[in-house]
Amino acid sequence: MPNNRITRRDFLNGTLIGAGTALIGERYLFGTAHAREAEALWPGADAPYYPPAWTGMRGSHPGSYERAHEFAREGREDWGEITETGEEYDLVVVGGGASGLAAAYFFQDAHDWEEKVLILDNHDDFGGHAKRNEFESGGQMRMTYGGSQGFDNIDNWPDEMWDLLEDLGIDLEKFENEHYDYDWFERHGLGGAVFMDAKTWGKDHVIPADLGGMAPVMPGLEEGPKDYEALFAKAPMPEKARKELTKLYEEDGARKIINKIDELDFNFDRYPYEKFLQKYWYIKEQATFDFIRKLPTDENGVGAETLSLSEGIEAELPGTIKLGRFYRMTKKPDPEDAGYVHHFPDGNAGFCRTIVRAMIPDVAPGEGADSVVLAKFDYEALDDPENETRIRLNSTVISAKHDGPVDDADTVSVTYIRDGKAYRVKAKGVVMACWNMIIPHLIPELPEDQKEALASNVKIPYVFANVMIKNWQAIKKSGIGAAYCPTSYYHLLQTEYPINMGGYSATEDPNDPMPVTLIRVPVPEERGMEPRDQFREGRSEIISLEFADFEAEVNAQLDGMFGPYGFQSKRDIEAITLNRWSHGYSYTYFNLFDKGMSFDDGPHIKAREPFGLITIANSDSGANSWLDVGVMQGLRAVNELLEDD
Ligand SMILES: Cc1cc2nc3c(=O)[nH]c(=O)nc-3n(C[C@H](O)[C@H](O)[C@H](O)COP(=O)(O)OP(=O)(O)OC[C@H]3O[C@@H](n4cnc5c(N)ncnc54)[C@H](O)[C@@H]3O)c2cc1C
Repeated sequence: MPNNRITRRDFLNGTLIGAGTALIGERYLFGTAHAREAEALWPGADAPYYPPAWTGMRGSHPGSYERAHEFAREGREDWGEITETGEEYDLVVVGGGASGLAAAYFFQDAHDWEEKVLILDNHDDFGGHAKRNEFESGGQMRMTYGGSQGFDNIDNWPDEMWDLLEDLGIDLEKFENEHYDYDWFERHGLGGAVFMDAKTWGKDHVIPADLGGMAPVMPGLEEGPKDYEALFAKAPMPEKARKELTKLYEEDGARKIINKIDELDFNFDRYPYEKFLQKYWYIKEQATFDFIRKLPTDENGVGAETLSLSEGIEAELPGTIKLGRFYRMTKKPDPEDAGYVHHFPDGNAGFCRTIVRAMIPDVAPGEGADSVVLAKFDYEALDDPENETRIRLNSTVISAKHDGPVDDADTVSVTYIRDGKAYRVKAKGVVMACWNMIIPHLIPELPEDQKEALASNVKIPYVFANVMIKNWQAIKKSGIGAAYCPTSYYHLLQTEYPINMGGYSATEDPNDPMPVTLIRVPVPEERGMEPRDQFREGRSEIISLEFADFEAEVNAQLDGMFGPYGFQSKRDIEAITLNRWSHGYSYTYFNLFDKGMSFDDGPHIKAREPFGLITIANSDSGANSWLDVGVMQGLRAVNELLEDD
């Protein structure tokens, strides 16, 4: 079973910051300096303001969420005197993630770039979940994604998404034909693996094959042998479990199951995946369930026991592949499909940087996608009064209120907290591109049923620990390019995506540094919980931890995996950027718990209704977490405002 090594601590009443800084090692000093109250840094900090390079606790970093928790959880109303800035904007966007940035872009585009637009975000960097993490080691700069990785779901993109990319100079064919190095993993002998940790299984053990299904998300990753009996033969688990897992991965008995099911009026959406394993594959061993439990976490945010059979098929979980193909519930892999290769070296932060530079050219020279890759953005240009579009960071919005009756008002007053002080601006229109569940607290005048619908979006917590290692010799020796770690603290490990773009190149020399990503979705120990409760519990787990706790888990896991190949965490780790996304993926409906709800029909439709001069964007409004969904919700929210003009 997953371990309980981490001690929970209560960080209320401001203990987080003091305790965190005291315990973090010297090498994180720079990062933690910036992990203090973010407002204190801007303006006037001595070091150049460049958040992508800050290590330590990032993601929803200290300083970004305390104000929101004060008013949403503790009901704080008194913020002292509010300073009227005297600014009046044509549009204020609350939330500077992909959705809010796209909303600002679409609005300006519809008005020949002549309107005054302000984007407010509570973080110290723009991009929302799409954040860039930079590291320095041995005189080299390496970068990776702090959250959102790559363009996904592109088969379903609407024309407007393609048009936007064309306008921005982002050419997806170049990612397929030039940027992504399909041969990189083969060249370095790196493949998928499974890591079974000693704490759970008695000894550390690596299964050298991609049983975690990483190859589809890292094209070119070697899948390894398919002789499942041999692969499980040495796994430290009861023999019965080894046999069960061999059976589930081989799927030799699938035909018999299909024959049985074919005679029944079988409802794949209502039938639990794990029940299917028990009843049709005769799976009994706890170790078997423990092995597969975390397989869907990266995509779905929950353990396998939460999924229906159809969701298990979609996630290509063991025991479902042939069944899914037979019923045409999964399509056969298209040999022409380029795969998941549409990544900037900093993930979808590259998209956000491209759109920001298109709106505020002063942040960096050049045009198009390639030139943002190595550009050191000038953050001082973001909120320059000379520009039509401005981005104001470290600004937590606490209220958006019509100036007069909702149906007659000409403006909305938007109040935000920055550097501990309250400020108010006015706007002729507002797009709320922030998270759904905070909106009822920002606009208490909303109808009750809409507030309820907004609050029902409980986001999925996520942790991306980016670990800068000084060299990757041990990784090369181990042959592990990516690993599924079913019972470790971090369930997934990925080496960097091999992207060559804009003057940045994938690492070739194992003596060079490389950022490695460890991913945790904090799925609770208890099985069978309602997904929203799982997410709430997972969030309280990760928010209660210090950087040092996450760091200890990183060290233990990397030592366990790569120690036999010469890796020593104390010696070989240069820095860690811990992206803690307490509110990560948007809530997507689960068959077994949200009956009858879908992208076309669910509370998110009610939640996104316009309210006077205020419209609602964010990927939450599409009940789906893909970046394109957030972008398209930004477009819809802007169109609703324009219709009202
Ligand atoms: C870890 C992770 C990995 C992902 N990977 C992928 C991927 O590979 N591909 C993909 O397509 N999608 C991925 N996604 C999803 C995708 O990145 C997001 O859906 C998309 O970026 C969401 O953009 P958004 O603007 O809707 O929301 P966000 O990015 O969440 O932006 C909303 C912003 O509003 C801010 N905000 C909230 N409240 C306030 C307030 N009161 N005042 C001011 N600001 C506020 C938030 O802090 C945030 O910065 C991933 C998501 C996560 C969490």
